Amino acid sequence: MGSSEQTPPADSMEETIAAIATPPGPGGIGIIRISGPLSLPIFEKLFRPRHKKSPAAYESRRMYYGWIMDPADSAPIDEVLAVFMRAPYTYTREDIVEIQCHGSYLVMQEILSAITGSGARLAEPGEFTKRAFLNGRLDLTQAEAVLELIEARTEVGLSMAIGQLQGRLYEKVSAIKEGLTALRAIIEVAIDFPDEETDILDSVTLREQIRTGVEEPLAALIARADEGKIFREGVSAVILGRPNVGKSSLLNTLLDEDRALVTPIPGTTRDTIEEFVNIKGMPVRIVDTAGIRHTNETVEELGIQRARAKLADADLVLFMLDATEPLTEEDLDLYNSLKQNRKKQKVLLVLNKTDLAPEASPEQYRAALGNEELVAVSAKVPSGIAELKDTVFSLITGREKGPGWDPGSAFVPNVRHKAALIKGLEACRRVEEGLKLDISPDLLAIDIQSALDHLGDIVGETTTEDVLDMIFERFCIGK
Ligand code: GDP
Repeated sequence: MGSSEQTPPADSMEETIAAIATPPGPGGIGIIRISGPLSLPIFEKLFRPRHKKSPAAYESRRMYYGWIMDPADSAPIDEVLAVFMRAPYTYTREDIVEIQCHGSYLVMQEILSAITGSGARLAEPGEFTKRAFLNGRLDLTQAEAVLELIEARTEVGLSMAIGQLQGRLYEKVSAIKEGLTALRAIIEVAIDFPDEETDILDSVTLREQIRTGVEEPLAALIARADEGKIFREGVSAVILGRPNVGKSSLLNTLLDEDRALVTPIPGTTRDTIEEFVNIKGMPVRIVDTAGIRHTNETVEELGIQRARAKLADADLVLFMLDATEPLTEEDLDLYNSLKQNRKKQKVLLVLNKTDLAPEASPEQYRAALGNEELVAVSAKVPSGIAELKDTVFSLITGREKGPGWDPGSAFVPNVRHKAALIKGLEACRRVEEGLKLDISPDLLAIDIQSALDHLGDIVGETTTEDVLDMIFERFCIGK
């Protein structure tokens, strides 16, 4: 602890940071990354190139082959390929060294401790990306896109992350900010020349300008955010139905076709009966209530309670029926309890086992159960699964059935962006209202500035330190 009072703050950019960049556990190759002013000196100390250079000057962005040696006893640690990248043309805009060693966690740890023993410190989660942001290589939406790209569960989520990483959202927000800045300039002139104020502030034109140039694009971005949430975070569905209608079979069929990737999030445990299915790019968390049935009565009671709790959170209920049997008391009881507890959930009737001789027509089941939308499937054959997915997709997104959604180069704001966009829009509406009421230009200028600040938060120009911390601590170490 002796020198702790001299330790610079954790985010000091003077420090050289290092981390293992590949996931823990054995792999073909492991990568260790160093960023900061000491990257090259540390590398020179630890690396023995296969071909001695004289003088030993490492060229930027050239791969070198050799050994990492333990500085304590000069013993070799591992055979590696390494590259030095000179600032500012690097991910962090600082000097970077990347060492590719064999993918053994022990080897990586040993190399890392040789590096930290030579003057670097361990990087915080997301610190490389945070430096890229603080050094101006990425705006904040792009830094967030890096995390989204790593965590994307479906191809649509990935596509959204790529668009954002390319700066699409940044460009859109910047264009809106430009419109506001132009407006502020006009208002500032009016403040400076109060006598001519009424000529300068042509209320009708300016209001039109703020409506079409600022408010409409902001509103369009806000509308997109909800859709983005569906594809980023996913939705949850419950398969409900009496025993033996085929709930587990359906879940298995869906999983066989398209399991969505799940990124393990530290500190969370997953319920064993929950799985992620990729439905046309939406990660859908499906809870199979069958897993908590088929047991003795007490456990069954418990199971029903848990199923109810899951139901309350679900976005969608797949209410399953057996086409080979008429509607039973149990079907009706379940449906009625669903109706009583129903909040915002969409309900889709799934008529299963249609590969066998039917007992009644789909219309008859519908008529008995509130005329909800119905899809006929066979979980076993399987058949009707594509129609089921199409219907789920359009129920949740409100989009047409048919081709899924490809956001391509679209900008899809996240929850944080949406909150700032709404505040920005509110401030713009106050400006518009103020122009109508002919209020003093000083007051208009305050609201314009407020709108600009909220938009500045999105791209990271005016974002506070604690918001930045919240964003970057969600990253993994080494990114
Ligand atoms: P759960 O209790 O609702 O989860 O029902 P299961 O998925 O365990 O299925 C009960 C039985 O119905 C099993 O024997 C399945 O093989 C059968 N089953 C499920 N779906 C179908 C289907 O679409 N067609 C046919 N013929 N049998 C099915």
